[in-house]
Amino acid sequence: MGSDSPIFELNKDDFEKISFSDIYYNISLRRIFILLKKMRKKAGALLVMICLGVIILLCWEAGEHLKDKILRSLETAAEARTGKQTVVLDSGHGGSDSGKVGINGAKEKEINLLIAKEIRRLLEKEKIEVIMVREKDEELGKSKVEDLKYRVSLMNEKKPSLAVSIHQNSYHEENVFGAQVFYYKTSTEGEKAAAVIQEALQEVNPENTKKIKANDTYYLLKKTEVPTVIVECGFLSNYAEAEKLVSEDYQKKVAEAVTKGILQYLKDQ
Ligand SMILES: [Zn+2]
Repeated sequence: MGSDSPIFELNKDDFEKISFSDIYYNISLRRIFILLKKMRKKAGALLVMICLGVIILLCWEAGEHLKDKILRSLETAAEARTGKQTVVLDSGHGGSDSGKVGINGAKEKEINLLIAKEIRRLLEKEKIEVIMVREKDEELGKSKVEDLKYRVSLMNEKKPSLAVSIHQNSYHEENVFGAQVFYYKTSTEGEKAAAVIQEALQEVNPENTKKIKANDTYYLLKKTEVPTVIVECGFLSNYAEAEKLVSEDYQKKVAEAVTKGILQYLKDQ
């Protein structure tokens, strides 16, 4: 028995040990399972959140795409109506509003109209439908705000492929010169049009170092729903440029360049 006892004791111990570790093992496993279950719940929630995020992102993307499509179809509505591409030409200022007055006494409103009329002639030769915002020396509203509102509403109503507003610039430093085209900050179409018009204007005066400029404060650029650019043909505060801008020859050169840019933009559509 003496020899059996240790064996029995050992077996009992072993049994107890095994039994205890077995229970411990089982408890540990249960804990792991519970933990895994919890983790699965959490992982599931995380997965749902990721899926929701992806769905929201996709919906937003789709919405943006749809908005672009609607705007595009509105932009081309005029084209569908007439079978021609349409451009709205806006001669800045007019009537009691002279715009900038040149160092040589030139009035911006007059130069704007002369250049716009020449652009119209050149565009119509290319079978482009042109809508002039004004054709004579007149203001288009009782106040400056009303005048601008009228211009914007005409552009939005006619829905041209492009709206071009002609202006002349001025600066307190006389040496500043050069044509410059402005577009609305977030308008990629406006930017495209501005780039090709600026490039064409660069050929008229290779010394011009001005580049296209994004803007988000000009009323006309902010409120139009069609691609719109403002072409500042030159500085009336610079004597040499002001003198050029009043000459018919130079006005024609500027008009040709702007037309070339417009045609290039329309072709790229
Ligand atoms: Zn102006």
